Amino acid sequence: MHCRGHQKGHDEIPKGNRRADQAAKAAAKAAAKPLILPDQAKVLLCKQETQSPMLNYEFYMNWRKFEPKGEVIEIIFHKWHNDYELLEDNHDYIQWLFPTRSQGRNFYSTPLNPQETRLMIDTSEVQQRLRRAYKMMLKFFGVKLMGEDGEDTEVTEVERAENFASRIDNLTANPHNNLRITRILLSLGELGAGEYQAPLVRFFLKETLIKNKLPRMKKSVMNFFVPAVRDTQKRQDLLFFAWRYYFPKEEFDWGNQEELARYKATPVVAALLPAPLSEWTPVYSEKEKKWLSEEQGGYGEDGWFQLKNRQIVLPATLAPEIVRALHASTHGGREMMEQQLEPHFYVPGLSVVCKAIAQQCVTCAKNNPRTGPSQPPGKQPIGLSPMASLQIDFTVLP
Ligand SMILES: [Zn+2]
Repeated sequence: MHCRGHQKGHDEIPKGNRRADQAAKAAAKAAAKPLILPDQAKVLLCKQETQSPMLNYEFYMNWRKFEPKGEVIEIIFHKWHNDYELLEDNHDYIQWLFPTRSQGRNFYSTPLNPQETRLMIDTSEVQQRLRRAYKMMLKFFGVKLMGEDGEDTEVTEVERAENFASRIDNLTANPHNNLRITRILLSLGELGAGEYQAPLVRFFLKETLIKNKLPRMKKSVMNFFVPAVRDTQKRQDLLFFAWRYYFPKEEFDWGNQEELARYKATPVVAALLPAPLSEWTPVYSEKEKKWLSEEQGGYGEDGWFQLKNRQIVLPATLAPEIVRALHASTHGGREMMEQQLEPHFYVPGLSVVCKAIAQQCVTCAKNNPRTGPSQPPGKQPIGLSPMASLQIDFTVLP
């Protein structure tokens, strides 16, 4: 057995002796590792603990204050949550509230290690506090979580909070909050709360790209927020969303433009309409709004309600107009139009509407005069041997 104190003796090995040199190197290497002497065991045990610290876990369990000069997490929740000035000016708590795998600018904080991460994911107390910490920061940004405490716990949409107007100035003036948001997103992903990532990113995409707010955040959303989302599908959806609303398009540097153009391409039927769906303004009646509120799905950016099966709901008042527009480009009959529309749209009384539109069409009446009963279908005689009776169908498209 060796200990650091005895290593000095090895320095006396004469130079030029290769084997001795190697032995000296090996000994020095071994000396760098903590070696246990019986009387040192206790001390080293402590040393080993500090080698894989659980400081973030301990902070989240309310066992330790954040450093430097910090507070325990429950005090932050109770005393800091309304103190926006403090939350803005103190730059040391965020690394503790939202630890990630990389060292933050607070060198008193420690990056998450794998064991600690696992433990934090598996501890409900930690998970609850993580959500509280997230909500506290959202409120500081002027943002709120929707539907979280309602019946549908899967919904974690993010919206402007009542204090948004007063908080957005802070967010605009202090771009270091962009770094905080990136950290929050990464931390949520690390600690098993990944479902909160995409809604927040989507919110900031809307604010920056559609509502043209937060000009200094635009690049951060694209370069850091979107890539922080762990779920590949959701990340791709966000990128597509950004691509749709980004202006000017030629400056869109993220992802493959051609792929994005093909991604979730507009349904075929929409291409048959003389104008994109966005040309129409969906106005749902009170009655429709009521039943939609009980349906699974949601209103899109453009005001159209999309059901969970992706069908877009057409208001009853608008349905005939849209079906007529579709008919004008296809002149299909009731059945054909139904088949074209059904996968993409939910139309109340679709069958009736399609039938009426087809019947009202003057062009169809001129070109498809269907008068009298249709011909009875011909019967093919049964052959006595294979190939004795053949029949060929010719299908001619008008
Ligand atoms: Zn027609």
